[in-house]
Amino acid sequence: NPRQAALQAIATTEYDLNQIDFRSEHLKELFGVLVFSEEVQKARLPKPVFKALQKTIKLGAQLTDPAVADAVASAMKDWAIEHGATHFTHLFQPMTGLTAEKHDSFLSPTGTGAAVAEFSGKELVKGEPDASSFPSGGIRATFEARGYTGWDPTSPAYIRESPNGATLVIPTVFVSWTGEALDKKTPLLRSMEALSAQAIRILRLFDNHDAVKVFATVGPEQEYFLIDKNFLYARPDLLNCGRTLFGAKPPKGQELEDQYFGTIPERVLACMSECEAEMFKLGIPVKTRHNEVAPSQYEIAPIFEDANLATDHNQLTMDVMRRTAEKYGLVCLLHEKPFAGINGSGKHNNWSMSTDTGENLLNPGDTPHDNAQFLVFCVAVIRAVAKYPELLRVTVASAGNDHRLGANEAPPAIMSIFLGDQLQDIMDQLEKGKPEKTLPGGFMEVGASVLPKLPRDAGDRNRTSPFAFTGNKFEFRAVGSSFSIAGPNTVLNTIVAESLDFIATNLEAAVKKGTPLNKAIQDLLPGILKESKKVVFNGDGYSEEWHKEAERRGLPNLKNTVDALPVIVRKDSLELFTKYKVYSERELQSRYNIFAEKYVKEVSIEAATMINIAKTLILPAALRYQGEVATAVNATKSAGVDAGAQFDHLKGLTKAITDFQTATKELETAVHHKHSGEPYTDAKAIRDTVLPKMVELRTLGDALETIVADDLWPLPTYREMLFIK
Ligand code: ADP
Ligand code: MG
Repeated sequence: NPRQAALQAIATTEYDLNQIDFRSEHLKELFGVLVFSEEVQKARLPKPVFKALQKTIKLGAQLTDPAVADAVASAMKDWAIEHGATHFTHLFQPMTGLTAEKHDSFLSPTGTGAAVAEFSGKELVKGEPDASSFPSGGIRATFEARGYTGWDPTSPAYIRESPNGATLVIPTVFVSWTGEALDKKTPLLRSMEALSAQAIRILRLFDNHDAVKVFATVGPEQEYFLIDKNFLYARPDLLNCGRTLFGAKPPKGQELEDQYFGTIPERVLACMSECEAEMFKLGIPVKTRHNEVAPSQYEIAPIFEDANLATDHNQLTMDVMRRTAEKYGLVCLLHEKPFAGINGSGKHNNWSMSTDTGENLLNPGDTPHDNAQFLVFCVAVIRAVAKYPELLRVTVASAGNDHRLGANEAPPAIMSIFLGDQLQDIMDQLEKGKPEKTLPGGFMEVGASVLPKLPRDAGDRNRTSPFAFTGNKFEFRAVGSSFSIAGPNTVLNTIVAESLDFIATNLEAAVKKGTPLNKAIQDLLPGILKESKKVVFNGDGYSEEWHKEAERRGLPNLKNTVDALPVIVRKDSLELFTKYKVYSERELQSRYNIFAEKYVKEVSIEAATMINIAKTLILPAALRYQGEVATAVNATKSAGVDAGAQFDHLKGLTKAITDFQTATKELETAVHHKHSGEPYTDAKAIRDTVLPKMVELRTLGDALETIVADDLWPLPTYREMLFIK
């Protein structure tokens, strides 16, 4: 059977674990070799062109001169061809959360039977992929089906190598002819602009006139599973849905706690090393790797970058990991919950704000001036999360993440902030308004005293909080492992921009009236903290008490995707996003539809896959076993021996099979229920009718796994998938 074939293949295959050797290839020399980086630009572009391009990249100045685009395109093409590139592509991020690309060759016939390699500024700046089959959620009527891609010069072009050549990849936005965003990058860039504009107002109040721009900075820690590829072939659920839809709890799971930070298995380490080499070449600053809590679960984390680049790099990271894993006979599972009963995978989205001069605005700093500025930015974030917890919640909503949030060591769906004891103490004192002498180092007075050194997150300490302050940044931990981080960061940037706007408006007015800045801050922040503190929780977010306490505080608990989605089109969301020009009303409406549709499709595919496995793999195995037992009972009886126990076993088995068949039929009936065609209505119906039947069927299938003879069981088991490395 497929399971035995998989085990056989694993036992007999040897893998080349030395495909990359850091003894001969130093990582320093690898870094960025495939990137059209600042260094390459400087070496290859005429000076004025280089300057104009850098101004666009660093300060967001519009590239208006077509001659500049032509010069950049020409240099890019020569550089790419030297790296073996034959084609170029505009890479974009449609609302599927994946990336999309269409390749065009550099070749142009001359008309005299020969051909030349060409790449114009026009081709660099704008592309017109046939976009009609990407989800648009109703934005695009058929007559305006053509979307277009537009070059994003702030994310550098790079080379993607393939076995017989290479492709020049140009990161782009993807918009409709009416200018609406059909992708995830456009709103992210808009939100970064909104954040920058408001943060600069605050910096000007603090007499900072050097900073021209403020960037959201992001470092996403990526969790994932690696299991042997042969298991994938034998598991239609993993292959089609990325997660197991059946699978009995193994005798050993993660209870021994012997996996976290444990020694990394050799084949996995070889694979990780090659992933890292590939990422270095692409200029992705990967920093850490380690075993995670669940068996066969790992994590990779980069050094933070500006949110746009970090997002592009995280998409690339997932791509490199998937492709490299195959070379080692492994499969990289990025689903939020590939295996029930053990930890799922998330993405810890570390977020802060930084000036173009390199100052981290969430760093407490060492002077009274820093103290005041830090408090303003920090309180702005707290206010933002307190005011818009449901928006944050909906950015992490998906059918996959529904299985993770609130389960095994994943933050609950209730959004709250962890500040830690010391920052909490500072905020308490600030709220009370009266400086007290309790802080180490002196009085807590805005702009007059120094803040104590705040401890950096010591890892495990506060894993239970979905949104934690970790010394000089916030860590948003509810993001799912397969997500594009564009969505969560777009929302974070926007809600913080709104808070900074509110604070700046108040402070500017007070200062204009002659109030000293520090006094104005001391007057303003306590009120904000009073209003916002309901969202602060420093205790155990996994506990039952917290759920009760959160309810008492009136914090929203949107338990699943279907509950969360309507937030997108609520009046306050529309007002927020249109005010800061991040999403238009139509863009929000389209996302609401797309996410609901995606939910319907994902769960429907899972249900269909489940039915297929139930009927063609589990039921036949169970019936074969039933036949064997029946034969044994008959033979025993005819031999004149008492077969009571065997008969009971047969009866129990028969009942288990019958229940399983009934549940299969019920799931089929639920699936065949007619859809209304209205995405949200269908999502709700699926959640309420299909999902519960899937849970029932799984329980019965898993029960059969513990009864049917092992040599007949066709699906690789949890024990095998998680522990054979
Ligand atoms: P710890 O939380 O244990 O202090 P690290 O300092 O290693 O962990 O950071 C974890 C992640 O947070 C890394 O990806 C790191 O690059 C990122 N990070 C650190 N500082 C910032 C920042 N200012 N903005 C965004 N991400 C950051
Ligand atoms: Mg962390």
